[in-house]
Formats: sequence, structure tokens, C-alpha cells
Amino acid sequence: MKRDTGQNRDVTSQWRLQTQLVRGGTMRSEIGETSESLFMTSGYAYDCAEDAEARFEGEQDGYTYSRLRNPTCAMFEDKMALIEGAEAARSTATGMAAMTSAMLSIVKAGDHVVSSKTLFGSCRVFIETILAKFGVEATLVDGDDNEAWKNAFRPNTTAVFLESPANPTLDVVDIKFVCDVAHENGALVVVDNVFATPLLQKPMQMGADIVIYSSTKHIDGQGRCLGGCILTSDEIMEEQILPYIRHTGPNMSPFNAWVMLKGMETMDLRIEKMCSNAEKVAHALTDLNVFTSVNYPTLDSFRQRELAMKQMSLGGSVVTMFVPEGRAQAFKFLNALEITDISNNIGDAKSLMTHPASTTHKSVEESSRLEMGITDSMLRLSVGLEHADDLIEDFERAAKIAGL
Ligand SMILES: *Cc1c(COP(=O)(O)O)cnc(C)c1O
Repeated sequence: MKRDTGQNRDVTSQWRLQTQLVRGGTMRSEIGETSESLFMTSGYAYDCAEDAEARFEGEQDGYTYSRLRNPTCAMFEDKMALIEGAEAARSTATGMAAMTSAMLSIVKAGDHVVSSKTLFGSCRVFIETILAKFGVEATLVDGDDNEAWKNAFRPNTTAVFLESPANPTLDVVDIKFVCDVAHENGALVVVDNVFATPLLQKPMQMGADIVIYSSTKHIDGQGRCLGGCILTSDEIMEEQILPYIRHTGPNMSPFNAWVMLKGMETMDLRIEKMCSNAEKVAHALTDLNVFTSVNYPTLDSFRQRELAMKQMSLGGSVVTMFVPEGRAQAFKFLNALEITDISNNIGDAKSLMTHPASTTHKSVEESSRLEMGITDSMLRLSVGLEHADDLIEDFERAAKIAGL
């Protein structure tokens, strides 16, 4: 397959973001298709046995088997690497496949991991429970407590994991501070950048070694496919990540990679609109004056506003709020919604709301959940692309019905 002219990294890395999102990573076959081709194939045929041998030796360029590389997935990976400013990227079947593959690639039995406490439910279960089964101990710290981060390191600490802003509380971690401390202690830092998206926050510029995404969220952005991505340096990819993922196979389907590629073409427009909608909704919910609190990174009342705005260019698409009277009232509010769906995904074009304690964070023990601030009164809203005023009117109506 012939590469599109101009797909030289020295050239494409100079393009502005919007051009990279639309054209970065594209390869064109001899047909000259404008939309990226979907190579729905598991294997590749060789002209002769010698070619097969040479490709397996790495002496000849080309594909051997889609667990190792697939052209449609490669286009998605190259586009992701370009917009992240990373040397290397690999796509995975889900965000959790990206997170667990990254972590399992860099730790071994006897190692110790430091992580922020507030995490997406499955990330927390993996760090706290699953790693322990393989002899990897974890220390969980309050993400905003820099002293606690410093004190958590041990001689055998090899990895740090953090989410910022965290799902669902929006707690923010000082990424540069944590990266500096980790590097002084010889540990690699993995940042889950799902809530910020690759457009609003650049963890690698703050020192992160590995960035992971659930592309299920804003990257697809239209609620169609699961997916994930691991981004890092060529060295970490070659020496640590690839030896693990080549032989364990957490791969993304070429079909899903193709959907992600199409999603990325409109990502900048979608994310900007979601953020402006989220900000309008956050202000309107605050002005309603019926919730115990409303949280959104750009609100004056947001506890970590200064740090959030130092690290992110916009506030993101998620707003959280707390009802005064607990679970029954939270459920009543959800059940009264006419436009926003009761659903636990985020980053979709459709606005979605969930009750984290009974859904996304149900598998986390109650004590851990409360420690993260996920009470029965909490609701998490992922703001979509509808007209903000329709969403606000829906929330006002639901608040009345829920007796707020
Ligand atoms: C959704 C999510 C994940 C997991 O992604 P999946 O694609 O659902 O596996 C990980 N981290 C965060 C912060 C998420 O929101």
C-alpha cells in the first residue's frame, strides 16, 4: 500500500491540530480512496516463502498478522500519536485493556505501585485487588495531597497511576509534581487522560511516561464502539509494552479503529461544543440553587479550579452534582429526565446521566467509595451536543418533580 504523500512525521507534526485530526496518519491504497480503508483482515499473504521469512525476521516492511499490526489500526494509532505528541501508540479493545496492558507491561511480582485514590471503578479494582493477586502491592493516596505522594514511594516502587480529572469526582492531581517525584524515585508514570481528552490536556508535556485512553468516550464520541489506546516513547513501547501486548492480544478490531478514525475528524468541533454546553449547564444548575453542590472545573466554586485550569485548556464535558436527600431523590431526579438518558457512558453526543454509587462504582467496596467522595447523593452528567437550553429546561423540570 502506498502511503499518502505528506505522511512524513517531520511534516505532519508541524500541521495544526485540526489538520492532524482530519488527515494525520492516513494511508491511501492504489485506489486513491478519500475515506480511510477498512482492512478487515486477520492475516496477509506473501508473494513467496522467502518474503514471509523476511517479514518475520523484521528485514522486510509489511504486515504479518493483525494481532501484531493491522493497517486500519495503524492509521488510528498514527493519528493518536500525532495529536498526543507521542512517539508511539497502540490501540486496544477497550480503555480497560489499555490501562491493564500498560500496567502489566511495567510491573512484576514484588514491585510496588502508587496511585491516586479516586479512580474509575474498574481502574480502582485493578490497582487494589487484581495487581495484589500477582504480588504487586499498591499504596493509594489522596490525589491532591502532594506530601502524601512524596511519602508513598518505596525502594521497589516502579509505577504510578493517576486519573486527572478523576472519574467521577473530577478531583485534579498536580501531574507535573507527581511525575517529578516519581522520576526522582525511578518510577514510570501512567496517566489516564480520558476525562480531559487528548485535546484539553497534554500529560506528556508535564512528564508522563505513558498516557492511556478509553476511545469509547470522546474519541469515538458517538456511543458506537469500545476502544482504547496506549501512547508512549518508542523505547518504552519497544522494550516494555510490545513484548506484553504482542503475546497477550488485547487488540482493537479494525472495524472499531475505522469508526474511531471517522470520529476523530470531528473531535475538535465536538469537544469544544461539549465543553461550552457543560459550562452553561454547570452555571445553570448552580443558579437553580437546589443542589448541595455542583462541580465543574471552570466554576469559581470548584475547589481545585486554579490547578485544573493550569493543566487543562477547557473544563471538559462532565458535571457532577449532589442532591440533598440521598439515593431516593437522586433516582427520582434521574427518572424524571426527558432528554438526558440514564446511562453510564461519557463523551457521547447524547447527554447521559448516571448515579455512580449504584453503577460505575458499584464494584468498589462501599468504604472505598465513600473515601473517594462518591456518596448516594452524587449524580454524574456527561454533557452532549444538544442545545444547552433544552438540557437546562429538562433539569429544571426534573428538579421540581424530584422535590428539589
Ligand atoms: C471509561 C473509562 C475507562 C475504561 O474504558 P472502557 O473503554 O470502558 O474499558 C477507564 N478510565 C476512565 C477514566 C474511564 O472513564
